[in-house]
Amino acid sequence: MNLSQNSEVILEVRNVSFGYDERDIISNINLELRDNELISLLGVSGSGKSTLFNIIAGLLKPDVGNVIYRGEDITGKSGLISYSFQKDLLLPYMTIEENVALPLFIKKQKKSNALVKANEMLKEFKLDAYAKKYPKELSGGMRQRIALIRTYLFSKDVSLLDEPFSALDAITKDEMHDWYMNMRRKYNTSTIFITHDVDEAILLSDRIYILGDGGIKAEIKIETSVRDNSFKLTKEFLEYKKSVIDCLESTGI
Ligand code: ADP
Ligand code: MG
Repeated sequence: MNLSQNSEVILEVRNVSFGYDERDIISNINLELRDNELISLLGVSGSGKSTLFNIIAGLLKPDVGNVIYRGEDITGKSGLISYSFQKDLLLPYMTIEENVALPLFIKKQKKSNALVKANEMLKEFKLDAYAKKYPKELSGGMRQRIALIRTYLFSKDVSLLDEPFSALDAITKDEMHDWYMNMRRKYNTSTIFITHDVDEAILLSDRIYILGDGGIKAEIKIETSVRDNSFKLTKEFLEYKKSVIDCLESTGI
């Protein structure tokens, strides 16, 4: 079931092109994200996924095109859309509760209020036992959960996640997928997710945009009634996988 199908478009990338010096990296990119939807950008390394994120987050300005957020042109404006990087980037000298509260500190909320909010979130995700610990005392999977909660607190509206699970081993990754799908069921998050992992893209996404040769090669809608790890064992999943792989192989990179 996809609740987002008829919902409002909240973010649009319109006709975006960008190059470094003389070299085109991405050209003519168009995509849209609807409320409560998770879309993936899937493509091989170097296909321009992170570049596109930097443009959406306003950290890079496109040569051509616009980024529209809730009807407003935000091209080149940073600070409106949150961005979580490949690495979890928890600050080693801060406790977990302080790390989670960090975006609220940055937004100049009172420290005591920010910590109360952070602790509520930790409790909700049954991670409150770690509140006073430091990142190095936690496993990679736990640190990643903390980082995702923090991204959520920073912007409840749109999250950009750049390969958040790519450094995890296969078993931890499965657990994280379960955990993350639960989190999405509970909270309305609209997310753009970067990955080069085909299974992960099919499992998590409502729609997948396949990037290659500097552009969007295809858009694949994933429709399933099972949004958990058992989806991976179905015939439908394998069919999706075949069409995604065919499309990736047809890109010339
Ligand atoms: P992806 O995230 O899909 O792996 P990137 O967006 O990071 O790809 O990079 C796309 C291309 O842009 C790569 O060929 C990369 O070498 C190039 N690139 C990235 N950053 C810079 C930069 N600061 N200067 C020049 N080229 C860059
Ligand atoms: Mg990248």
